[in-house]
Amino acid sequence: MEKAVVLKIESSYSLLNLNTLGIDAEAEFFAQASSVDEVRDCLAFAVANQLLVKVLGGGSNIVMASHVKGLVLNYSNTALQVVNETTADVTVKVGAGYNWHEFVLFCLSRGWFGLENLSYIPGTVGAAPVQNIGAYGVEVKDFISAVHGIRLSDGEPFMMVGESCGFAYRESCFKQELDGKVLITEVEFSLSKKPCVQVGYAPLDKMAKEKGLPTPIELSNWVVQVRKSKLPDPVDMPNAGSFFKNPVVSTEQFQELIKRFPGMPNYPQNSGVKLPAGWLIDNLGMKGQSFGLVQIHALQALVLINNGGSSEDVLAAASMIKNSVQKAYEVQLEQEPRMFF
Ligand SMILES: Cc1cc2nc3c(=O)[nH]c(=O)nc-3n(C[C@H](O)[C@H](O)[C@H](O)COP(=O)(O)OP(=O)(O)OC[C@H]3O[C@@H](n4cnc5c(N)ncnc54)[C@H](O)[C@@H]3O)c2cc1C
Repeated sequence: MEKAVVLKIESSYSLLNLNTLGIDAEAEFFAQASSVDEVRDCLAFAVANQLLVKVLGGGSNIVMASHVKGLVLNYSNTALQVVNETTADVTVKVGAGYNWHEFVLFCLSRGWFGLENLSYIPGTVGAAPVQNIGAYGVEVKDFISAVHGIRLSDGEPFMMVGESCGFAYRESCFKQELDGKVLITEVEFSLSKKPCVQVGYAPLDKMAKEKGLPTPIELSNWVVQVRKSKLPDPVDMPNAGSFFKNPVVSTEQFQELIKRFPGMPNYPQNSGVKLPAGWLIDNLGMKGQSFGLVQIHALQALVLINNGGSSEDVLAAASMIKNSVQKAYEVQLEQEPRMFF
């Protein structure tokens, strides 16, 4: 009997609804794979047709070219499995296609704690390790015990423990030496069964002072509330979240800057002083400024809204903002969303 053909590889596939910047892009080829076998079928197709494979999650942290060459591959598996459980904690293995916020809510519903501050971050579980997602004083690296995946070169599986993933602020080996070389299929998280809410970040601290210490579920709701009040919904205003990373400058450079800008918020680090990129832009009076079809959000200087522009339009706006910041502070801003070309 012939094997049923379940995998569909489509050509000239519109990616307009698969990137939150709303860029009207098209993939040369596109496939959605729900199992490792299907991924291997896609890799075989790519080899046979001499195509590069490009892995796409929810499209919330990328700037897409209008024509993406090669095979764009989306891994949709959402299987969830408890791999270890004690009275104190649990290790859960999750398919890369699981929606991140839904996974956070699922954990809360089971009494597995730690991810509350990362509630409502768009995207998939599989992309979470790529830039070590973080928000409100918490980074996902502190909960990732292992990353499982497949090498795109030969379809072989790999497993890396969290400590060897090169995690740093919005960084990991998946953005560096493994960039474009692997597809993450599952992520393992170690979560506590004991609530330990983190409300150190300013808006949460304020709410905790007003209302008392929240339960983990309440904290998740607060985070959602704060995020909704501060960040535009990509459905209404296409965007990719924070467009620039917060730069870290040397202590010497910071001493010079603070003389010129006494109100500049700053966060001392081991390696220097971290400055909020949003403040640097806002302080130049650029909030709400338009660059053709791309605009700096009127309330959040770190977010670029794309009103129908292409990747070139978005990058041109980003470049003008970077130049202004460089000129005013001699600080080089680094783009956070990845290029998807
Ligand atoms: C409104 C808004 C708010 C945001 N807020 C935050 C925030 O608070 N903190 C934060 O850290 N980020 C934030 N982001 C950025 C984004 O949500 C995260 O980076 C998220 O993890 C991206 O997930 P994704 O599935 O959409 O990845 P995509 O955008 O599809 O991909 C991002 C990168 O990861 C790679 N990738 C995706 N899936 C896989 C996989 N399975 N295997 C290998 N590589 C893969 C892609 O090739 C690409 O290079 C925000 C974005 C938006 C639009």
